[in-house]
Amino acid sequence: MEENFLKKFAETVLKIGVNLQENQGLEIICPVEKSDVAVALTEAAYRLNAKIVNVRWECESVDRLNYLNADTETLTDVPKWFIDSKNYLVKKGFCYCAIAAEDPSAFLGVPPEKLAAAAKARGKALKNFYESVMSNGIRWCVVSVPTKNWAKKVFPNSVDPENELLGLIEKTMRLDAENPVLAWEKHIKTLNKRAEFLNSHNFEYLHFTNSIGTDFTVGLCEDHTWISAEEKAKDGLPFVANMPTEEVFTAPHRLKAKGTVKSAMPLCYEGQIIDGFSLTFKNGKIVDFSAEKGYDTLKHLIETDSGTRRLGEVALIGKNSPIAKSKVLFFNTLFDENASCHIALGKGYPTTVKNSETLSKKALTKKGLNDSIEHVDFMIGTADLKIDGIKKDKTAVPLFRNGDWII
Ligand code: ZN
Ligand code: ZN
Repeated sequence: MEENFLKKFAETVLKIGVNLQENQGLEIICPVEKSDVAVALTEAAYRLNAKIVNVRWECESVDRLNYLNADTETLTDVPKWFIDSKNYLVKKGFCYCAIAAEDPSAFLGVPPEKLAAAAKARGKALKNFYESVMSNGIRWCVVSVPTKNWAKKVFPNSVDPENELLGLIEKTMRLDAENPVLAWEKHIKTLNKRAEFLNSHNFEYLHFTNSIGTDFTVGLCEDHTWISAEEKAKDGLPFVANMPTEEVFTAPHRLKAKGTVKSAMPLCYEGQIIDGFSLTFKNGKIVDFSAEKGYDTLKHLIETDSGTRRLGEVALIGKNSPIAKSKVLFFNTLFDENASCHIALGKGYPTTVKNSETLSKKALTKKGLNDSIEHVDFMIGTADLKIDGIKKDKTAVPLFRNGDWII
């Protein structure tokens, strides 16, 4: 990949994303075909005086062969060394950078129940690790670079899909700015202002409606707090967990969603596509669902555990965000979730509840925070979406009209 891109990418990810400190370890998850990205990140990390850099290589072709040939019993047996290696990162205060660049069709033809069983086993085995990640026990960041198959899926008619996707990533990650680190600092301020506005109103619930059939209210957790791009880790240092990011988000109350919500974009889950789906909630729980495509995969997702029937996140993004304006479907949640308002099935982020670090798990559940081994975002924002925030005294504050912020 182009040297100039790699340098800007690595520096921005390490300074703004994980906020790597001197004498700190860094773990990178990287597709094996993108070793130049891992090398660039490692070089940049040592320029910032990192302690050590570990890379875990990923290869979907090998994963696919394993899913097709190994039996479910073997696939669900998560080795202890793997679990230990993840817990080690938390214990030793590493920061964690994952490069998400999956081919959305990688696991086509693999029985969804096999994928679901393996995902469930992994989620269970790594529960402690994921808990640390989601409560900001470590600083972490998810980013993307184009891989061959992913780029081909996004730009099937292009002569050079990888390069086209690279240009789009450069733009949406603000790497085309003269000083991307400064551009990010400015962007973070804008998003923080929106979060402050929402926090100042302390809404009891949000009401979503649009013309494709969404009529849905989502109650918010007691003592919820809206969070934007920049979060604080348990060690007090700021970091940005997703790059790019355009969202402000908070915790829905696990018992208080009602009505029907329609998907606005396809969802790529475990290498399979779910599209044209609809979920109906009562008392926070999915009581009915349908899908034009990928019904079985959706069913497996919803039935993963008792928490995947409920919501763990609600996030607001206007239709004029740079990603939304690109009108490109990325088949990658990191980008697609920033093109549209979304909600997530599964685990809620403890950090979206005030003073969560002082609260037990039981206390968080009592405030309404959902728990699960999964957290899967899907898009619900259409160009005509209307959102009102409803306060405790039942007054409505218009937040979105025609798919965009009006505050
Ligand atoms: Zn989100
Ligand atoms: Zn999410």
